[in-house]
Amino acid sequence: MHFRKFKANNIFTGTNFLDSEMVLVTDNEGIIHDIIATKDAGGNIEVFDGILTPGFINAHCHLELSHLKNVVPEGTGLVQFVQQVMTKRGASEEEKLNAMKNAEQELYESGAVAVGDICNTADSISIKQKSNIYWHNFVEVSGFVDTAAGKRLDDAKIVLDKFQKANSKKQKSTLSPHAPYSVSKTLFEKLNNETIQQLITIHNQECLAEEELYKNKTGGFLELYKNFGIDIGDFHPTGKSSLQSFLPYFTNNQSIISVHNTFIKKK
Ligand SMILES: [Zn+2]
Repeated sequence: MHFRKFKANNIFTGTNFLDSEMVLVTDNEGIIHDIIATKDAGGNIEVFDGILTPGFINAHCHLELSHLKNVVPEGTGLVQFVQQVMTKRGASEEEKLNAMKNAEQELYESGAVAVGDICNTADSISIKQKSNIYWHNFVEVSGFVDTAAGKRLDDAKIVLDKFQKANSKKQKSTLSPHAPYSVSKTLFEKLNNETIQQLITIHNQECLAEEELYKNKTGGFLELYKNFGIDIGDFHPTGKSSLQSFLPYFTNNQSIISVHNTFIKKK
């Protein structure tokens, strides 16, 4: 077997930094065989300036929204942001594909080897099939009107099915709830049954309004529901944080990547 040997200012092992006296040994395929001292490594060592590190994981991405870069104004708060994204997400197929292609390239060139990607549509499939990155597709499910839960789940399953049919060994796809403020009780219950022992994700405690909604049914989200004509008569506040309210729905050994957590408290 042919080996390659690398050294740099440091080697990051994933848990600690080794100094420039250590050499990383791989086979031709890039499989790591060993890390050994320079004095034991012999000749033909390839030397680099900088740090050798495992590839990066981007745990939260929305590849299909790449065309919205610089379109939505910053600093308006979540409620305004969500409304902007919902009303401005349209674009031509060509614009969307070009933006996704550039973003995929940027991810790869900046060292990402695996990405957890939120999918509302099947738009990103063709980009991912040609990608060298490992993709976990979180097909997002939302619907705050409880009586619509079945329909919303069915719609998401159509998207999931497209990803699963296109999946290569470099992709995996699961359903995931969007956020506590956009998923109803029945929809959470259904998602629990659809994601047994799977990896899922959720946008959690991203703003204070989310906390106000679950504690007292007050705050900025009431305005958002009104603007979109969403009837929240079925929603009853729990008096707890959103995390404390939704987490008990998941009883089937799911692994959950909770993202944002900006307003999470220790307890
Ligand atoms: Zn997100």
